[in-house]
Amino acid sequence: MTPAFLPFAQPEIGEEEIAEVVDTLKSGWVTTGPKARRFEQDFAAFLGDKSGDDSRSETLHCVAVNSATAGLHLALEALGIGPGDEVITTTHTFTATAEVVRYLGADVKLVDIDPVTLNIDPAAVEAAITPRTRALMPVHYAGLAADMPAMLDIARRHGLKVVEDAAHALPTTCGGALVGTLGSDATVFSFYANKTITTGEGGMLVTRDAALAQRARTMRLHGMNRDAFDRFTAKVPSWYYEVVAPGFKYNLTDIAAALGIHQLKKAQAFQQRRAAIAAMYDAALADLPLVLPPGPAAGDQHAWHLYVLRLADDAGVERDRFIERLFDAGIGCSVHYIPLHLHPYWRERYALQPAMFPHSQHAYERMLSLPIYTRMSDPDVQRVAQAVRAALR
Ligand SMILES: *Cc1c(COP(=O)(O)O)cnc(C)c1O
Repeated sequence: MTPAFLPFAQPEIGEEEIAEVVDTLKSGWVTTGPKARRFEQDFAAFLGDKSGDDSRSETLHCVAVNSATAGLHLALEALGIGPGDEVITTTHTFTATAEVVRYLGADVKLVDIDPVTLNIDPAAVEAAITPRTRALMPVHYAGLAADMPAMLDIARRHGLKVVEDAAHALPTTCGGALVGTLGSDATVFSFYANKTITTGEGGMLVTRDAALAQRARTMRLHGMNRDAFDRFTAKVPSWYYEVVAPGFKYNLTDIAAALGIHQLKKAQAFQQRRAAIAAMYDAALADLPLVLPPGPAAGDQHAWHLYVLRLADDAGVERDRFIERLFDAGIGCSVHYIPLHLHPYWRERYALQPAMFPHSQHAYERMLSLPIYTRMSDPDVQRVAQAVRAALR
């Protein structure tokens, strides 16, 4: 009997999430309302903000949105990125990181990765800076923190903004501090179905900049601003708002936030299970012709959104054939990512060639992502490891 197909990713939704969604449905308030607000407050508390006071400069402002893509767009919009500007990011990411720059009419400068961590290479960032550069967008690839001390230092020296794509990085630490608290201008998390916690679709923009948070709150809902009324009278009638800009429709529903409230409570436990799976893979695959993913720096935490293997040059099998063998053995896997420089849009718009990104290209040709998610059992993990071993023979 062949065992059931093991999917590449699956969310873990518990009875608490289901009960909270049912409660939301019965409450009569299904779109953005009290649960989205509670999710924002819980998120700030999770990241360590104990103040609960929006007026304090150290306060973490959390703005719930309907995707990380929306959050990244809002962050860059609030920072004033526009035509004529350049934003530097890694070629080794999902297209969402870069597309939001184009939404605003600015240009993307893609750079190569560090060959060990697969994170954006600070030296490549520094070399790509021009007089038009306005912002840097590091991605915490796979859930391993990018070199944020270096990125923040470059930004400070060149007067640049920093927006972190933390779609993989809940919870990740860098120098002992959680991603989201590292001192960039904004950090954006994703709650897409396969991320470390999920609301189906959703995201969170986190910033210490009160003005940025205010702009993002306005722009996530049609550019509508109720605070504008305050200059006329202290009491704003419930029906009154002013449109101050052509905003977007990026608000998170209370149905989605209901999931997020309970997923967030489990985020540390989920991370521990993912880290345990990564450790099992590390032990089971150590003797094979593979490059195993790098662990976190001493004392730091890796979110382990992805477990990315690379075939060694003497592996004796091509990556595509290797993935076919795993699928034949009933194991779902994937590739993260087809680098942006290989996609027609990015390649043609910026005349990109693989030789410009040797480390990303080298890694891409040899890489695949194994299943890593909390619902996998220990036997599931051993089954994947055995299938990897067999596929190398
Ligand atoms: C998933 C992902 C996004 C987009 O997240 P959404 O919530 O689906 O918009 C952005 N960047 C990276 C690196 C991602 O993996």
